[in-house]
Amino acid sequence: MRTNGKITEIFSSVQGEGIYFGEEQIFVRFFGCNLNCKYCDTSLNYFTEYTPEELLHEIKLYKNASSTVSFTGGEPLLQKYFLKAALKLTRKEGFKNYLETNGILYSALEDILDYVDIVAMDMKLPSSTGHKDLWHHHQRFLEIASKKETFLKMVICKDTTEEDLRAGLKLIEEVNKFLVLVLQPNSFEADEPSSEKLESFKDIAKKCGITTCVIPQLHKKIGVK
Ligand code: SF4
Repeated sequence: MRTNGKITEIFSSVQGEGIYFGEEQIFVRFFGCNLNCKYCDTSLNYFTEYTPEELLHEIKLYKNASSTVSFTGGEPLLQKYFLKAALKLTRKEGFKNYLETNGILYSALEDILDYVDIVAMDMKLPSSTGHKDLWHHHQRFLEIASKKETFLKMVICKDTTEEDLRAGLKLIEEVNKFLVLVLQPNSFEADEPSSEKLESFKDIAKKCGITTCVIPQLHKKIGVK
């Protein structure tokens, strides 16, 4: 199915989150999200429509900056037909495809996984996001994603509960305990977790045998996009 994509912005910068933090990447921010996390700081107020070929043309303008394209959002998997066409083109052009996702739309992931190199998957803890729990969706998603290089990210806020952390860890243990987990402190000052809480969460994860690191949002710390 041919469809245009709704894209909010395209730019190059350093990756500010997860285990590839600090790496220069080309970012394609997809318009639209299926969640409304209470800590969300992504502004998705506008979009421009592109065909997959037009998007590739824009991406190639940044070719000197990086050979990795981060498909981010919003939630890129909401536009799976366009995403798949774009991934095929970037792959053919020699780019590495990095998918940032909230880890819910598992059927869409299955359809595009062949063209993805790295999956950066969020695990949404209800006490962090203010949503109902999404464990079932996350489990199905992770089972599919872990066929490729995958790491997980949990945003930890002041109110995040140990119970939610343990539920997430249990799920990771059941699917693939060798995946790396990043605990990302919420950067809004009023909702920032204490360093004691982060240490204690890291210890709990370590005791479950899951490799875990605490990584704040680098781009905010160094003041880039
Ligand atoms: S999934 Fe990401 S983009 Fe969507 S509301 Fe949550 S933080 Fe914002």
